[in-house]
Amino acid sequence: MAIAAPGQLNLNESPSWGSRSVDCFEKLEQIGEGTYGQVYMAKEIKTGEIVALKKIRMDNEREGFPITAIREIKILKKLHHENVIKLKEIVTSPGPEKDEQGRPDGNKYKGGIYMVFEYMDHDLTGLADRPGMRFSVPQIKCYMRQLLTGLHYCHVNQVLHRDIKGSNLLIDNEGNLKLADFGLARSFSNDHNANLTNRVITLWYRPPELLLGTTKYGPAVDMWSVGCIFAELLHGKPIFPGKDEPEQLNKIFELCGAPDEVNWPGVSKIPWYNNFKPTRPMKRRLREVFRHFDRHALELLERMLTLDPSQVSLYLT
Ligand code: AMP
Repeated sequence: MAIAAPGQLNLNESPSWGSRSVDCFEKLEQIGEGTYGQVYMAKEIKTGEIVALKKIRMDNEREGFPITAIREIKILKKLHHENVIKLKEIVTSPGPEKDEQGRPDGNKYKGGIYMVFEYMDHDLTGLADRPGMRFSVPQIKCYMRQLLTGLHYCHVNQVLHRDIKGSNLLIDNEGNLKLADFGLARSFSNDHNANLTNRVITLWYRPPELLLGTTKYGPAVDMWSVGCIFAELLHGKPIFPGKDEPEQLNKIFELCGAPDEVNWPGVSKIPWYNNFKPTRPMKRRLREVFRHFDRHALELLERMLTLDPSQVSLYLT
């Protein structure tokens, strides 16, 4: 197998990858601002196909191609599933590139690199935020099934997403849902022995074990986020909208009860447990607060929003 020179992307598995120019596409409009660059709706000139072009921002990079982008590309290249966004190819612009006003931009010597994705019409947050929008139970079931199927596929392929939230769940006009934005994703091994960063997952969807500082974790972190989204869809608004880490934990404890060695064996050994443990007793109120939810939905939610990550039911088997 050919080895890429240092600093080069090894895209040899698909010879066309990275060899086409962004000029093969006509940018139609900017549709988003990603973690590390703008996202455009664009049309492939030859086929007329509509795609999403995600520009990889290089301006803050002193060390060449950003490691987060390399990770995202490597991970997405091995994932092929109907509920995971498809990375179609990488295209480049040799530069000098122009900004929107036609001036050369700061990256002109480095050129631009774009990820080409299949285009999706909406994201779940955007749909849910429409005035008067309330999803029906069958719609919620349909989105949840797709979310869990896509996530199960990632996990059996040993990929943690680590940023599951509504704005990263893309939906097309046929109601298909796909997981997107693998900028924080990483591969994991099943023994959970590696030390991983706990500063991942958007605060409102971050599980208690990460907020308490654990560095050894697995797929259960993504399932907590799924539980938060499930409850949010049924409830009509986010269930844990904390403004900082302590408030986030407090909101979780108020609904799910305070963790202790009985309901979560080993919790007292998690690094920041003593800093954050509640000073008053707090009991689990999930069933009481969400008593208006469908009985089966509530049962599922109980199994997803479990404090002890080793008790979380994965994929509802
Ligand atoms: P991301 O960095 O992947 O989260 O992208 C930022 C935003 O760009 C998203 O929240 C979407 O609004 C939009 N976006 C990203 N990928 C696509 C896509 N494949 N199709 C349509 N819009 C997208």
